[in-house]
Amino acid sequence: MITAKGQCVQKGIAIGKILIYRKPKPRILSEKITDTEEQLRAYRDAKEEAIRELSYMSEMTEDKISKEQAMIFSAHMMLLQEPDFDHAVTEEIVQRHHNASYAVYRAGEDLASFFATVKDNPYINERAADFRDVTDRVIRKIQHIDDEIRLPSDPVILLSDDFSAQEVAGLNPSQVLALVSAKGSVNSHASILARSLGITALVDTGIAVSEKYNDRTGVADAIDGRFLIDPEEELLQEMHEKQKIFLDSRKELEQLIGTKTETKSGKRVSLFANISSVLEAKMAQRSDAEGIGLFRSEYLFLNRQSDPSEEEQFRIYKAVVETMNPKPVVIRTLDLGADKQDQSRTGKEENPALGVRGIRLSLDHPGMFQTQLRAIFRASAFGNVGIMFPMIVSKEEVETIRTMIDDVKEELVKEQIPFTDPKIGVMIETPAAALISDELAGLVDFFSIGTNDLTQYTLAMDRQNAALPVRQNVHHEAILRLIELTVQNAHKNKIPVAICGELAADSALTSYFLKIGVDELSVPVSAILSLRKWIRSQD
Ligand code: PEP
Ligand code: MG
Repeated sequence: MITAKGQCVQKGIAIGKILIYRKPKPRILSEKITDTEEQLRAYRDAKEEAIRELSYMSEMTEDKISKEQAMIFSAHMMLLQEPDFDHAVTEEIVQRHHNASYAVYRAGEDLASFFATVKDNPYINERAADFRDVTDRVIRKIQHIDDEIRLPSDPVILLSDDFSAQEVAGLNPSQVLALVSAKGSVNSHASILARSLGITALVDTGIAVSEKYNDRTGVADAIDGRFLIDPEEELLQEMHEKQKIFLDSRKELEQLIGTKTETKSGKRVSLFANISSVLEAKMAQRSDAEGIGLFRSEYLFLNRQSDPSEEEQFRIYKAVVETMNPKPVVIRTLDLGADKQDQSRTGKEENPALGVRGIRLSLDHPGMFQTQLRAIFRASAFGNVGIMFPMIVSKEEVETIRTMIDDVKEELVKEQIPFTDPKIGVMIETPAAALISDELAGLVDFFSIGTNDLTQYTLAMDRQNAALPVRQNVHHEAILRLIELTVQNAHKNKIPVAICGELAADSALTSYFLKIGVDELSVPVSAILSLRKWIRSQD
């Protein structure tokens, strides 16, 4: 038996025959050519074919998965259409007399190594892999190499060194039991696609991929992160049982789709989802979330060189709002800083968690803040939108925000751009906000308690520091009192109150939250149905 440890991309247990997939490798030899015109034609034809193929992949992915995921392929198309790339390949052929395959390879490598060496920008660094993917595609076309993964009719565990996003997008999920790769990372585009397609997947197993494993029995345990080849009978039996338990519990939870989130005695609470992308909104919808309680918009701003434009933000907010319509979607304005570092704006801070983060950063950059507000207001015309603000500590901040909102509304009216009036809320995630929640309640339409930060600031324990026992203290009396005070003050002022920190999904506190009258729990998508199950089991 062979055992390899890996990282789980998509939870599940797959048992079945292994099929080794090896990427067809094009031959890259530098040859001096004389037929420049012919090589140029071979390159241009191959590039056109690659672009057509990518455009097809993009349409197919948009149909099968989402617009957002389809963008991976449009981005690849754009890389191929880069004038710099075209210029470099042409120069390799015309000036250096290299054959088309080698010319594409050289030009691709030069650009990829440029991307790979840009300092302190992991997003750009990852684009090097994209560049290699697209140039490989063109070279395969030049050499007429067929790169489609052909699967047998009986589903298999596909084992490879690594999978590209294109390869995963082209798979029919019903023919694949699991994807297992020797390399790869949980957040690569290929992994994101595997998750969206619901294919059980393990990456980074380090396994030496060899044809000798073809047709042998494999077990991809993407619950405990291991891959087994030819397990002994007893272990195989154990895995079958584990698989059955997993599938049964998933089926049982799926039965809860369409049911109410209420206790046996009929006490109700709204069960919302926390998301950070359009794809997650789709998953939330599939898991029957009653709305989005927290859309962490800062993920749109991270890992990129420039801020997303109003148009780009608008398109994403609109997509989320339309996905959930008519259910409510609460978009939280930018919460950069602290653990979501953004040194380009804040500079290096001694104590970033106590520094320019959340609303402080937005108020310091009014242009950026207004752009975001405009994008959210424009999206409000397409469904049920709420806006909330992170890291509030004072009434003055809320008053300033209100004035800025009025300005944005006035502008939109002047420009005849439609919007509705979104509900305005604040996060209660600092002890200060909880303690003045009686005053804040008069200024807003709802509260949402962020227990992650409320815990770190109340206990003076960094939520990032693994050495601190924050986890053991999450039920600390001080936090529960601040939550209770916030709920009381909200209700005195007749506004609803949600909890959107991790504590919302902590079933040990659910009964307590229901008892004190919390109106909404907003939890990670994966926790929705299991929390509903728990609530329905309570008296
Ligand atoms: C929180 O602090 O509880 C919260 C929901 O916000 P974030 O985790 O994004 O800081
Ligand atoms: Mg927070």
